[in-house]
Amino acid sequence: EAKAKGRNTFHFYSQELNAAANERLHIENELRQAIKSQQFSLQYQPQIDSRTGKIVGYEALIRWNHPTEGNIPPTKFIPIAEATGLIVEIGTWVLKEACRFSAVLKSKGYTADISINLSARQFKDSNLIDTISYTLNEVGLPPSMLHLELTESMLMGDVEAAIEQLKEMKKLGVSLSIDDFGTGYSSLSYLKRFPVDVLKVDRSFVKDIPQDTNDMEITAAIIAMAQKLSMKVVAEGVETAEQVAFLQRNNCHIVQGYYYSAPLTEQGVFAQDPEIMKVAGN
Ligand code: C2E
Ligand code: MG
Ligand code: MG
Ligand code: MG
Repeated sequence: EAKAKGRNTFHFYSQELNAAANERLHIENELRQAIKSQQFSLQYQPQIDSRTGKIVGYEALIRWNHPTEGNIPPTKFIPIAEATGLIVEIGTWVLKEACRFSAVLKSKGYTADISINLSARQFKDSNLIDTISYTLNEVGLPPSMLHLELTESMLMGDVEAAIEQLKEMKKLGVSLSIDDFGTGYSSLSYLKRFPVDVLKVDRSFVKDIPQDTNDMEITAAIIAMAQKLSMKVVAEGVETAEQVAFLQRNNCHIVQGYYYSAPLTEQGVFAQDPEIMKVAGN
């Protein structure tokens, strides 16, 4: 009985594994096609100074519109692109497309910055510095307008190598952010050695404010620490007026989230004033 059940369970498990492996392989093949036939686009989510309603930046977020399967979220395909190395090519495209968008904004007289997400593979890529500097030149964007978002896990493996790479990036004149801050394992003793300009407080700390008092304490502590280290803070995943008010009281003024705006298409950005956020009560 037990043995038979065990065998069944194993059989079922291995079928599931197979299904997962097949889906991965399927997505990998589809990703190669997606690069060739330009199925990717970017959306841009505003980052707002909550005191003034001014849009101070946009985060570029990749979208994959598959011809038959529709929209496939980045959380599903980025890890596969990362594992296969396809992310380097995709990431280079993201960088160029986001910088192009940002140069258009600038040519129309706007001053909002652009943030892009880097993957671990890109960060380790020896061509990264050349790729960034080539792209900025080609598009004619001032380096100071480009923010590169990294995660804690990317910095923690070989810390000395990471610090060297961060320094090379800083030499280009770009700004560096730690994304999803508080969810990784970065050691606070290293944090002060990383030449990083911005901490982005992860949505997981923001989402249950004001119900969860622990999350409120953690968020306030992250903000205070960032400021002591002379870093700017951006709160992500801000969805309610109460959250905005709490963040303001605790001196975090730059916010990003559905409360103000979901990510927008480029057309959507220009359908309103790209630097003033219209929001109820603002
Ligand atoms: P992330 O960089 O932390 O981006 C924030 C994610 O939260 C985005 O999801 C955004 O649409 C979503 N979001 C923004 N405001 C709210 C809110 O108020 N509530 C909720 N529930 N969600 C909100 P998205 O676009 O699905 O991207 C997911 C992740 O995929 C990103 O997390 C980032 O890690 C990765 N990603 C996206 N685009 C790129 C890219 O071009 N390159 C790389 N390497 N990774 C990317
Ligand atoms: Mg990000
Ligand atoms: Mg984030
Ligand atoms: Mg996040």
